[in-house]
Amino acid sequence: MKIAIIGAGFTGLACTFYACSSQQTTNVALFDRSSIGAGASGVAAGCMHPYAPYSFKYAWQGPEALKDALELIDIASQENKGDPPLIRQGLCRLFLKDEAPFPTPPTEATIFCKEKIKLHFPYLDPVEHMCCLHQGYSVDTKRYLKNLWRVCERLGAGFEKRNIQSFKELEDYDHIIACTGAYAREIEEAKDVAISQQKGQLLTLAWDPDMQPPQYPLHMRGYLVMAEDAASCYAGATFERSFQDPFPDRERAEAEIRKKLHEFSPACSALQFLDCQAGLRAYAKNRLPLIVPLSEKHWMVSGMGSKGLLYHAFCAKTVMQQMGIIL
Ligand SMILES: Cc1cc2nc3c(=O)[nH]c(=O)nc-3n(C[C@H](O)[C@H](O)[C@H](O)COP(=O)(O)OP(=O)(O)OC[C@H]3O[C@@H](n4cnc5c(N)ncnc54)[C@H](O)[C@@H]3O)c2cc1C
Repeated sequence: MKIAIIGAGFTGLACTFYACSSQQTTNVALFDRSSIGAGASGVAAGCMHPYAPYSFKYAWQGPEALKDALELIDIASQENKGDPPLIRQGLCRLFLKDEAPFPTPPTEATIFCKEKIKLHFPYLDPVEHMCCLHQGYSVDTKRYLKNLWRVCERLGAGFEKRNIQSFKELEDYDHIIACTGAYAREIEEAKDVAISQQKGQLLTLAWDPDMQPPQYPLHMRGYLVMAEDAASCYAGATFERSFQDPFPDRERAEAEIRKKLHEFSPACSALQFLDCQAGLRAYAKNRLPLIVPLSEKHWMVSGMGSKGLLYHAFCAKTVMQQMGIIL
């Protein structure tokens, strides 16, 4: 059986991996109009947890999706020859004094009170409580994409740089799966699929060497994740419903993200600018991942929103099961 996958982000790579792992496939080809991780996956900050936004309730299929994502990241980690780990456990949710009462955190969490925060992280001055989620993770996304592709390549997948406008261009294949993220509707046969785009921007800021770097990503309305080199950090993100183009817009990104950082750390909001990246997130109407058959042979997986890391492996596995390619 010959399988074509369009789009080399988290979702397309996960589909490629499961397709290559099946006994039924003889040929697996991955197409992208640009390169591995050229879409939103290449700019993702790398935070992953199974909870709904601003709550400690599980998101739709949260625990199952987390299990699948961790398994796939573990497989990609085996390509790590002496490099730092691809994934680190722990993610901190911050609470201010004027927020709603501190909710009951999950059992897998450690709570830091104000005194402890002041001692270890004096630059988080307005923060009242910090809840470190053991089911939260930070992933080095660029290296994850690179490693996962290496695994797929070793299992026999091929890559072709090509813009696909219609499934008709790939008629040789028995099945085609479009994993084209926010660009889902650009494929002729998917033009009626209800997917909307939202632009997201991420800043890279120089870390102040006089401040002790946080061990875990810090989350409130904005977030801050240390880069592997500990000399810089990623700060996010914008959620722009209206935008002119998908490219970085430093002025808007700095204005919105620095304001969010200022809420929990005036010191972090003043860190020096290094870079700005942008990508487009894809949302279905119900804000859940979308797995749809477009015909007997053609499928689409999109709508990962801001949770592509959590859902990519789960959705790829689900579509492969529905197509009968894996059990
Ligand atoms: C600033 C920002 C920060 C984020 N941070 C996080 C985070 O911390 N954690 C998290 O889980 N998620 C995060 N996200 C969301 C996450 O990036 C997405 O959910 C995820 O990347 C979606 O993956 P995907 O593979 O479905 O799509 P994409 O990564 O967008 O991949 C789609 C691919 O398809 C290709 N393509 C499109 N059309 C065609 C065509 N016609 N022919 C050939 N190729 C085509 C594109 O080149 C692209 O490579 C963030 C997003 C942004 C923008």
